[in-house]
Amino acid sequence: MSTVGIVGSGIGGIAFAIRMQIMGHAVTVFEANERPGGKLGLLAMQGYRFDTGPSLFTMPQLVDELFQLAGKNPRDYFNYERLPEICSYFWDDQTRLKTLEDPGETASLMAEALQEDAATIYRYIKEAGEKYNIVSDLFLDDSLHKLSTWTSKKALHGYANLHKLGLFQTMHQAHKSKFKNPKTVQLFDRYATYNGSDPYQTPATLSIIPHLEYNLGAYFPKGGMIEIPNALVRLAQELGVQFRLNEAVEKIRTHGNVANGIQTKMGVYDFDIVASNADIRPSYKQLLPENLRPSHLLNQPKSSSGIIFYWGINRVFEELGVHNIFFSKDYRAEFEAIFKQENLFDDPTVYIHISSKVAKEDAPDGCENWFVLINAPANSGQDWDSLIQSCRTNVIQKINRVLGINLEDHIVVEDYLDPRRIESRTSSAGGALYGNSSNNKFAAFLRHPNYRAAIKNMYWIGGSVHPGGGIPLCLSSAKIAVKLFQENA
Ligand code: FAD
Repeated sequence: MSTVGIVGSGIGGIAFAIRMQIMGHAVTVFEANERPGGKLGLLAMQGYRFDTGPSLFTMPQLVDELFQLAGKNPRDYFNYERLPEICSYFWDDQTRLKTLEDPGETASLMAEALQEDAATIYRYIKEAGEKYNIVSDLFLDDSLHKLSTWTSKKALHGYANLHKLGLFQTMHQAHKSKFKNPKTVQLFDRYATYNGSDPYQTPATLSIIPHLEYNLGAYFPKGGMIEIPNALVRLAQELGVQFRLNEAVEKIRTHGNVANGIQTKMGVYDFDIVASNADIRPSYKQLLPENLRPSHLLNQPKSSSGIIFYWGINRVFEELGVHNIFFSKDYRAEFEAIFKQENLFDDPTVYIHISSKVAKEDAPDGCENWFVLINAPANSGQDWDSLIQSCRTNVIQKINRVLGINLEDHIVVEDYLDPRRIESRTSSAGGALYGNSSNNKFAAFLRHPNYRAAIKNMYWIGGSVHPGGGIPLCLSSAKIAVKLFQENA
């Protein structure tokens, strides 16, 4: 049995803790904040409840798996429902569209609203699933940094199908050659933002992402997204994992190139194994000795961040669903502003998540809780106070234009999150939502591995390491790190 110290209780850190504790190790998690969950946070204001971070829950089986591994019934801890309507889309010219859980029905609705061929759309959705399986064989389930990954049977299957992945085209080019209507192209290009990337730069391989929503489904947890870390922490504690909250790690202790402990203001703790769920940049720059830094991996471009307004709204909008998108009139200019000028575009794409559509208790009667997200560059010292002000005005004007309302009259409480706050609350470099961007075809290989022989007894989990950001991939990072631990043992 080993003692294990983990820096950070994001979703990846909690999953790693559960897996290691189940294997019989004694795990302690150190968390700088007063509550676990990292980017999954909660805000309550005057009868409105908001999940402050993720709003879209896909692949819930990856959460269930952790309970099953512990011999528990996940439904005793955590429940969720599949959403019959996935997303409502709005354009300035009054084109509107809803996507549904059934891919066939979605293809028909898209064909009708966007004058496309339903069979082409249906085929695209199904091919996304086939490509997903190829990518997951190659990239998602195992370390990319072990020879055995590249010589496995799964990998051989992946190589044989590599040509299907569109590595040499951008996502936008692939969509443009497939669909007639620029709105359809825009709709599918949007999936690049699911890992904080730019569809005009990211390889077409990322068109696997729609598979998660259209073929596997969009889910909503009972009690909100915050119930994902809450339920997992409950399980972890029952298994014996110790959580030390409000205890920021100041140093990961090393002897030569072997990690052997953790230092905080409260004390020095020896561990056989150390893991970091904190972003790689602060992990290396603040916690580890300089000679152990892999500089080329730390300087990769970051994914997008976001400005999020939490608005308590004093009425109900029947035309809106749980997830809603109001598209920019010039998508290319929006991504150029974010990734090239590191700025905001003045006609941004606006995402509105309203959990009170399915969880009535999240807002007072006859009211709605709006989580309004605009993609933004990672923090590099922009004048965020003035950007937030102009962004708020632009967003309200856009919603007013499309819905024919005066939104200011309906906002009764508000708060916001911006790249600076995300950075200071979760230590993510630049407040990036998903670690590094995937804006080039080699991005997967430039992500930090889950284990480096250069630092023995130390493992890496979370959105800034392999296989990437987003809840499902962070959960996978924990699984891969444990596999590597077993191989090293
Ligand atoms: P993090 O959540 O990054 O947590 C790291 C933890 O480590 C933090 O709690 C931090 O306090 C702690 N820590 C750091 N340094 C120290 C230290 N020195 N000592 C102690 N503790 C430390 N994903 C989706 O799947 N769907 C979505 O819809 C979605 N939307 C998003 C919207 C927003 C606004 C944000 C912010 C993120 C969104 N994401 C979404 C991304 C998702 O939230 C992240 O990829 C994921 O939660 C990151 O988990 P993690 O394991 O990397 O840990």
